[in-house]
Amino acid sequence: MTTQPSDQLERPHGAENITWNLDDLYSSVEEADRDLEKAAQQATEFASTYRGRVAELDAGALTQAIGRFEALQDLLGRVDAFAYLRWSADTGKPEHGAFLQKVREASSRLIQSLLFFELEWMLLPEEHANTLLTAPDVSRYRHYLEVQLLFRQHVLTEPEEKILAVKSVNGIGAWTRYFDQMLAALKFNFRGQPLSEQEVLSKLQESDRSVRRDAALALSKGLGTRLPDLTFVFNTVLAEKASDDRLRRYPHWLSARNLSNQVSDETVEALVKAVSGRFDLSARYYRLKGKLLQIEPLEDFDRYAPVKTGTEETGWFFTWEEAREVVLSAYQSFHPVFGETARRFFDSEWIDAAIRDGKRGGAFSHGVVPSAHPFILMNYTGKLRDVQTLAHEMGHGIHQYLSRKQGALQASTPLTMAETASVFGEMLTFRSLIERAQKPAVRLSMLMSKIDDTMATVFRQIAMNGFEDSIHKARRAEGELSSDRFGELWIQNQEAMFQGSVKLNTHYATWWSYIPHFVHTPGYVYAYAFGELLVLSLYQVYTEQGDAFVEKYVRLLEAGGSDWPERLLAETGVDVKDPGFWSGGLRAVEQLIQEAETLSR
Ligand SMILES: [Zn+2]
Repeated sequence: MTTQPSDQLERPHGAENITWNLDDLYSSVEEADRDLEKAAQQATEFASTYRGRVAELDAGALTQAIGRFEALQDLLGRVDAFAYLRWSADTGKPEHGAFLQKVREASSRLIQSLLFFELEWMLLPEEHANTLLTAPDVSRYRHYLEVQLLFRQHVLTEPEEKILAVKSVNGIGAWTRYFDQMLAALKFNFRGQPLSEQEVLSKLQESDRSVRRDAALALSKGLGTRLPDLTFVFNTVLAEKASDDRLRRYPHWLSARNLSNQVSDETVEALVKAVSGRFDLSARYYRLKGKLLQIEPLEDFDRYAPVKTGTEETGWFFTWEEAREVVLSAYQSFHPVFGETARRFFDSEWIDAAIRDGKRGGAFSHGVVPSAHPFILMNYTGKLRDVQTLAHEMGHGIHQYLSRKQGALQASTPLTMAETASVFGEMLTFRSLIERAQKPAVRLSMLMSKIDDTMATVFRQIAMNGFEDSIHKARRAEGELSSDRFGELWIQNQEAMFQGSVKLNTHYATWWSYIPHFVHTPGYVYAYAFGELLVLSLYQVYTEQGDAFVEKYVRLLEAGGSDWPERLLAETGVDVKDPGFWSGGLRAVEQLIQEAETLSR
């Protein structure tokens, strides 16, 4: 690593020619197309063999049927991944888009024709299903089958489900779309310029304070013009959720979400309790940030201000070779299996890092299918953040690679476990980078941006979960809620997190109204906190137990989604139902804040 003035950041970094080779999937579109036809044929055969017959299958025949179903998913997933990756690498070519669209349409038809299989299983009489589940033949697929049964008590009859599905398009589906369109069309007047929501939000990260203040006022003012409509949409979503929960017999507004995340209500409560019990940490962090920015107290529009004390000025620059070395050595020193797996990605052309016209932005690791291997896409520019992105996606890649042995139906994890390996790997890399950084100013800047992320994913999301909890309960108890009532509950839950460390202005009381998760996926937000804090807690166990933990962690990743998260985690020796486990992760956050406080002196 060398230090360079930031105006030279555009210099060559060696990732210009790092592209992936999709030949491991297909060497031509024609070949992929033939597999698509093969999948369609197999689906027809599968349906004609099993439709209406699942109840007649004994354990052996059921296992055989699932095996065929799994192989079909794998085949279809391979074609889909190929079409998607090819398009991602060059979205500009119309034939790439056309083939992707063709595959998506074909697989949607195909998946529809296979829906009966899981549905018939779900509707088997309980006793019959339980007998099958205990048969040794079936054990390989037990978890997959159990997950389907989770929803058995909550599905309605087939005609009822059909009516609900049809009516929801013009019901709740129309309201959420109206919400999206309203916000997309809304202009925010920033110093005479009409900005979009994204543009005005990004100005909250500027270092010029007056820009941040004006952007915040523009956002509030713009939201204010549509507040009655936004309030109406929110009320509709809350009422819809209440009636859906009643019809489907869910005891609590969050129960359905917890079921699909495969975690118990008890575990989620332990998480929420642990985090909200440590809001002193968010307060302490924002006080430190205020001191470093020399703004005391911070106001709501200062929360995302950058603390520029090091990396930007010194322009820490990484060539691709250096990034590769940093990431490989961080993973290798954790466990040789991690090092070797990561090396495969580099050596076998499983990474596309070059920036090209037409290539999609951002970064991801696509797991593809168990019979193939993952591919990583990113856009490498040589910045510190890119090295962290590479480490993050490599974590996903290793997780996906190690869990291939679970097969197409059980390799991937539910949402709550999806970021385990990526955030953990990022942490390993962050630790090794911060040790390499010699200048205290660079270390402080790295720490502050790391803690900023933790504040956003752990504390902010739990405060938002608190807001959601308040509005769902209030709507059920009080009836339709006014904009002011939403604002009151929003400020209450935000104050809890800041504890006076950030001054919340009155204009901030409407900022609940643009958050899409509340409208699209009620209950979603705690999953961010779950994932991040789970990793910080596991990392804490790792620092305490060292090698004893490492082997267990490898097995956890290899298990993929083959069992309940709580059970898989219990095998690594942690009890996520215990608030004490989550406190370990919070202690790790406290240590980061302490480190930053020490460096700032
Ligand atoms: Zn990720």
